[in-house]
Amino acid sequence: MKLIDEEVKHPEHAGKIVKVGNTEVMVGSSNYIGREVQDWATIMVPLNEKIPFRFQPGRALPMVYWLPLVDYGGVPENWAHEVRFLLDQARHGRLAFWCTGGHGRTGTLLASLIALAEPDKDPIAEARARGCERMVETLDQLKGIVKLLPSAEHQRIVFTRHYGTVIDVQRQKQGQLFTDPQPKPKTKRSK
Ligand SMILES: [Zn+2]
Repeated sequence: MKLIDEEVKHPEHAGKIVKVGNTEVMVGSSNYIGREVQDWATIMVPLNEKIPFRFQPGRALPMVYWLPLVDYGGVPENWAHEVRFLLDQARHGRLAFWCTGGHGRTGTLLASLIALAEPDKDPIAEARARGCERMVETLDQLKGIVKLLPSAEHQRIVFTRHYGTVIDVQRQKQGQLFTDPQPKPKTKRSK
């Protein structure tokens, strides 16, 4: 059986330029992203707190906006505020963000930006089509993205559509999927 969370290497996460509304953002993974991002970005958001390269001296230094998210977790309480701020930054500059694999946390921010910039679209489907098919990984990430959509009916449709895909990844990570049930050890009872 093919496990859904088998280690997937996606070198295109070295810094992929993706459209959000009328603007462009760069998404990546700290496993692959290099110092070229310094030349492109005006604001960098390491979602895993890692900047995996040295800044090149003599060149413009992008602003670094620390926004750590919990790996395989959800989003903070003020997520809508953070996403609005970053969408504004993307419209006035060049926003680059990344996490470790480039799927969960990076996908969550990309889908959240799409949710605000293009509220009539399905932000998870769009993030997966524009960024990577593996983007958005947990139920709490899905909930955080869906909450940004203005229409309750659209929220319900998008949540229902993607529930199965995120819950499978989440259960796989937690070892609850595709593992044989372990027989309970027999214990000898003394009379
Ligand atoms: Zn990928």
